[in-house]
Amino acid sequence: MNFNQFNLDSRLLAGINRLGYTEPTPVQIAAIPPALAGDDLIATAQTGTGKTAVFVLPILQKLLTGPRNRTRALIVTPTRELAEQIHESIRDLGTGTKIRSATIYGGVGAAPQVKALRDGVEILVACPGRLLDHIQQGNARLGSVEILVLDEGDRMLDMGFLPDVKRILKHVPAQRQTMLFSATFPPEIEGLAAQTLRHPKRIAIGLSRPAHTVAHALFPVPQQLKTALLLALLKQTDTDSVLIFTRTKHRAEKLSRQIGQAGFRATSLHSDRTQGQRQSALNGFKSGHYQVMVATDIAARGLDVEAISHVINYDMPATADDYIHRIGRTGRAERTGDAFTLVAPDDKDMVRTLEKIMGQPLARQTLADFDYDAPASPISSPKGRLAPAIREAHHTPAVRRIKPLGHRMLHAKPGRRSL
Ligand code: AMP
Repeated sequence: MNFNQFNLDSRLLAGINRLGYTEPTPVQIAAIPPALAGDDLIATAQTGTGKTAVFVLPILQKLLTGPRNRTRALIVTPTRELAEQIHESIRDLGTGTKIRSATIYGGVGAAPQVKALRDGVEILVACPGRLLDHIQQGNARLGSVEILVLDEGDRMLDMGFLPDVKRILKHVPAQRQTMLFSATFPPEIEGLAAQTLRHPKRIAIGLSRPAHTVAHALFPVPQQLKTALLLALLKQTDTDSVLIFTRTKHRAEKLSRQIGQAGFRATSLHSDRTQGQRQSALNGFKSGHYQVMVATDIAARGLDVEAISHVINYDMPATADDYIHRIGRTGRAERTGDAFTLVAPDDKDMVRTLEKIMGQPLARQTLADFDYDAPASPISSPKGRLAPAIREAHHTPAVRRIKPLGHRMLHAKPGRRSL
């Protein structure tokens, strides 16, 4: 299967080539043909499966014909980062089409957005709150929308955006194509689907299962030694591109400072930072200037950074779904990645849940030479000390054997797709 079989315009094929996509991913194979045919779609596909192109390519193809200078496609998405990524994907795939897209989200000045709306860009990529403001102020006119995409539906629900989304729907013509993407389908999302889609085709790829190219390991540790263990782990890991998750923005900020003090180039991504700070953190992480980025779940939602080698859960995620989204940042598009989770005694129930969704026990690891009985002291392993080797825990029963420490710590089997 290759992209030629979708009968896409040559300008889009050129964009696909430029991005280096050689063959479509499973969700693209399943969903691009019905999307091109104008069908409504419900797609269950996690970030990292190539789902963005599933709606971007058909939107661009459709917009090549017909009027310009009016909003004909609307993509609603929960976070600014995701909006920017989709916007970039439209730009990259649509180079040469002269189709324009604009992002609409809060936390930045409204003037450029008002201008884009008045100019009548063809595609809007919007977060619900700010879009609704523009609708109410008469800046956004959605009467020409032909294609509506609701991206990361379950996350919009979690973030309390569903009422806003329903209000936005009232301003979009009933005669349209609608595509709904969601990693999970709680009843509220099923309800939204029933209200907004007509005879949708259902496509389920990678149903709430993490990517196969990710190796998972748990690191049991007393709560008060988490930071020390994390720093010890970082010291013996190839730290080119490590994304660390904490439960709160306060913890993200504090931890990134501590990691910085330990000699790593670290930054943080959370909602207490300004849009400018978030963008520069993200750009610095993408370019390799920062080795480590500490983020909260919401801020990192849908992040698309190539070649993240490790995701480390400093705090256990609140739900299994969050775990899948977090580790979806590594092991993307045929790369391998490692997912480490620090496990405090209180996290036992969540571990059981994770093992259930993974369908196998997760390897428990301990760091040799790490003093698990030490009193709390965040920076107890001085820099420059010889890296302790990892050994598998003796105290845990039947765990999956993972290759012990190599240059990179853990490797999944190479060559398998992440889908
Ligand atoms: P997404 O799930 O849309 O966030 O995509 C995840 C990553 O896979 C992005 O970096 C895309 O650029 C990349 N990608 C999407 N489609 C393909 C493809 N057919 N071949 C290789 N990489 C792809």
